[in-house]
Amino acid sequence: MERISHWIGGKTVTGESGRVGPVFDPAAGVQTHEVDLASAEEVDRAVKAAAEAFPAWRATSLAKRSEIMFRLRELVDAHRADIAKILTAQHGKVMSDAMGEVARGLENIEYACGVPNLLKGGFSEQVSTGVDVYSIRQPLGVVAGITPFNFPAMVPMWMFANAIACGNAFVLKPSEKDPGASMYVAELLSEAGLPDGVFNVVHGDKVAVDAILEHPTIDAVSFVGSTPIARYIYETGTTHGKRVQALGGAKNHMIVLPDADIPFAADAIIGAGYGSAGERCMAISAVVAVGDAGDALVAELASRARAVKVGPGDAPGIEMGPVVTCAARDRIMGCIDGGVAAGATLVVDGRAPRVPGHENGFFVGPTLFDAVTPEMAIYRDEIFGPVLVVVRAGSLADAIALVNRNPYANGAALFTRSGHAARRFQEDVDVGMLGINVPIPVPMAFYSFGGWKNSLFGDLHVHGMDGVRFYTRGKAVTARWPDDGSAAPGFHMPLMG
Ligand code: NAD
Repeated sequence: MERISHWIGGKTVTGESGRVGPVFDPAAGVQTHEVDLASAEEVDRAVKAAAEAFPAWRATSLAKRSEIMFRLRELVDAHRADIAKILTAQHGKVMSDAMGEVARGLENIEYACGVPNLLKGGFSEQVSTGVDVYSIRQPLGVVAGITPFNFPAMVPMWMFANAIACGNAFVLKPSEKDPGASMYVAELLSEAGLPDGVFNVVHGDKVAVDAILEHPTIDAVSFVGSTPIARYIYETGTTHGKRVQALGGAKNHMIVLPDADIPFAADAIIGAGYGSAGERCMAISAVVAVGDAGDALVAELASRARAVKVGPGDAPGIEMGPVVTCAARDRIMGCIDGGVAAGATLVVDGRAPRVPGHENGFFVGPTLFDAVTPEMAIYRDEIFGPVLVVVRAGSLADAIALVNRNPYANGAALFTRSGHAARRFQEDVDVGMLGINVPIPVPMAFYSFGGWKNSLFGDLHVHGMDGVRFYTRGKAVTARWPDDGSAAPGFHMPLMG
């Protein structure tokens, strides 16, 4: 069985904790790798390597740091397909989707290539007689990223690209379910000329995460994952004096108004609901059909859901792969059973998918429920699988009120032909990222990504300018260079003059 080990100080380091976890090929349903699970001592070793590398890296010129990011950009670009293959093999997503993930991650590296511009400060000449004020931003030191299984390449890139470009040293703790991509990217970073120790990877579970949260040398933690863990990371990390941004789970609604182009909306929902087997934090999982839109929309969705091609992610023409683990499949099947028991109408049942030759794979077929009410667990809970629920609403105002009552607030979309309705939606909905006739409104890397309420704990969103702010501290300098050296003592607050 192939083993996936840590990356510390610029080289592979075999774990010595005596604990390993399984990595599966979800389409075949067989274990392919074992991954080392770090002890607190191994996390400490990675943090020490990062702390040793930090002073020289911080002192490296912006021009040089930018040059390394450009080289990394070229390497990731050249190896898109290799990274995507690892994603498909360990996560299960189809190749075209895996290629899309790499492209959306690469955007962040491209953004970080502009670090000399991103770190420009302000300068005010002569704020008082002979006095200038200017602002600079400096790196924090050693920062850590803890990432989820569903975007094993992109989410780490959301974090480390800006963190490293801004002059920090980074410790990544990727998901132990599909850790292969992070090791591949570690090697590319090294090949791009990043000094040893500036980027490290420790694999692990709660033991490694707790060691990160409690480590006195780590200044900041970025986390992406489920809401209960995000809350725990935020509370524990801040208690230990760290800057923390912790992005959590989601239940993203798409409101469809009666004036929308219904086949266009149905196409969008199918891709956004079943793409990546629903394992996206920006997947559409709740459709809110307003007024007359409902019956026509459910009919369009049902025929499309039945036609989705389910199979192994590396086979041509497949649109939806398996879910990540056997446990995930069983949990999702349990959610579907619960929906039936609660009285929702099961329009398309994905509990018995047929994938010839892959009978042991972790497949769940596209599933569609209608007549779902807000009290039902299939509406309330994040299912994180290919399960769409349709809730009916009487008006746009009712639909927005429903979205706003939900404790999650990552993304929401509206499909309509009315500019007025779109503007009202944009103004009134309490969610971090909105789509107007766009089903998965993931902001580009030069904007920032983040939800509200239970979908994000912390102040700053991830990547874009918020990412630069998160990984740096501001300093304001007030400077005077008197030419005669004479100054009388002043006992009052400094005044302009
Ligand atoms: P998860 O919360 O189970 O795991 C995320 C990370 O936390 C992993 O690295 C894991 O090893 C670690 N972890 C798990 N249990 C832990 C524990 N008890 N203590 C400490 N650390 C622990 O999430 P997941 O299943 O890997 O990913 C899916 C979740 O991530 C979904 O809820 C999804 O919505 C969310 N997600 C959110 C965003 C976003 O931007 N808001 C993006 C992607 C995924």
